[in-house]
Amino acid sequence: MNPAAAGAPIRVRIAPSPTGDPHVGTAYMALLNLIYARQRGGRFVLRIEDTDRARFVAESEQMIFDALRWLGLEWDEGPDRGGPYAPYRQSERTPLYQQAAADLLAAGRAYRCFCTAERLESMRRAQAAAKLPPRYDRACRSLPPAEAAARAAAGEAFVVRLAVPLDGATTFRDELRGAITFDHANVDDQVLLKSDGFPTYHLANVVDDHAMYISDVIRAEEWISSTPKHVLLYDAFGWPAPRFWHMPLLRNKDKSKISKRKNPVSLIYYRQAGYLPAAMINFLGLLGGGMPAAEDAAAEKFSFADMLARFQFDQIRLGGPVFDLEKLRWLNGLYLRALTPEAFLEAVRASVFGEAYLARIAPLAQERIETLGQFFDLTDFFFLDAVVPPREVFLPKKRTLEDTLRVAVALTAALEAAEWTPPALEAALRALAQTQGWSAKEVFMLLRALVTGKTASPPLLESLEVFGRARTLDRLRRFLEIQAARPAPPPAPRPAE
Ligand code: GLU
Repeated sequence: MNPAAAGAPIRVRIAPSPTGDPHVGTAYMALLNLIYARQRGGRFVLRIEDTDRARFVAESEQMIFDALRWLGLEWDEGPDRGGPYAPYRQSERTPLYQQAAADLLAAGRAYRCFCTAERLESMRRAQAAAKLPPRYDRACRSLPPAEAAARAAAGEAFVVRLAVPLDGATTFRDELRGAITFDHANVDDQVLLKSDGFPTYHLANVVDDHAMYISDVIRAEEWISSTPKHVLLYDAFGWPAPRFWHMPLLRNKDKSKISKRKNPVSLIYYRQAGYLPAAMINFLGLLGGGMPAAEDAAAEKFSFADMLARFQFDQIRLGGPVFDLEKLRWLNGLYLRALTPEAFLEAVRASVFGEAYLARIAPLAQERIETLGQFFDLTDFFFLDAVVPPREVFLPKKRTLEDTLRVAVALTAALEAAEWTPPALEAALRALAQTQGWSAKEVFMLLRALVTGKTASPPLLESLEVFGRARTLDRLRRFLEIQAARPAPPPAPRPAE
């Protein structure tokens, strides 16, 4: 059955990789896929693409589920719900990909490559020096298949690569852009199966979209350059390809691809900072077009149900939509102010003053408290939207502002990567102090100032654990942004002659 044939059931999917905090881009794609499915009586599938074991983060899958459910973006089939094409987690489907790779080898559409990491590295260096794009030089493509099979059987490590046609081009239709052509001269002999037996994204994605009868692949624009490889794979397997829709990529104000340096990208941040799901859905729905043009600001407020009724995929705008935080805050304000007083109180209780959050904060305050009236003095930073670290606090004695900024940037990177527990954070901060040539005490003080706005706080590492990575990083990001926007200091006065 051709899933993209007229009249075939509509089946769409999102396929996030569990590599960290759930991303706003994942929510955007989930929203569009869900609307597409619901408008056409189709099914919306959640598939977890966890084949990249190096970037795998154990809690990430659950965080994706929780964040999407918080937004009300529920899937019809998925790892936790099951469905007719289970399992929906790629790590549980490895034999399928291995069989698929074996089929391609047998058909001569793929080949084994025995090149060592060292050889590939020196090849890449030579290409970079000659200003050539990095591309496999196809050294193993001419090995006789029987010889390659014998070397593999003897235990030599290998990967399986796609044998991209040596000339010609692949053309596919993007439903928003029309025909897109990639010259084969510009398509690499993509690795399909890695030496550890795990598939790469490309192989697993195509095998699963086929096996799950996906009719429409609706994903971000950044995957366009992968699509010719996918189309070649469908062709090599002799399978019909789905329809492809590449959605505009969310961007920072400066039009670069949305990044955590310039915007919070974690859905956890938005949830913890007190955004309402309905406002977030509305905001995402505004981003790339699709809703009838708003005549006035009031028409920019719409619900998921309005989107189901009025969203049109052919009205999507391809210019990069700007993820404008001010706009999101404005919308969120509209939603909050429109709540009944009871619902508003309920929202406050469910979010910033949530029972679970308070239960974790209280013991931290208790250690230092003398009257209950001081509770907020000790813990205000857990509840404030932003803090302003006073200059003398973030600028330790004997350090320059430049120095502080450099350490703050390194601190951000270290906190992004660290496991979020007090012992792991402590180790990361101490290691950072070493590499930056600061004392550990100075690093702790800078971090305390940026996160709490004060020189004294409840135990810092335990506080960070409760406050969470997403909001901690947001405080650091805001500090760096404000500093970057400050005018350069006036030149020092010239000494009197
Ligand atoms: N695993 C890919 C991701 O993380 C899926 C891209 C696709 O939808 O094909 O976004």
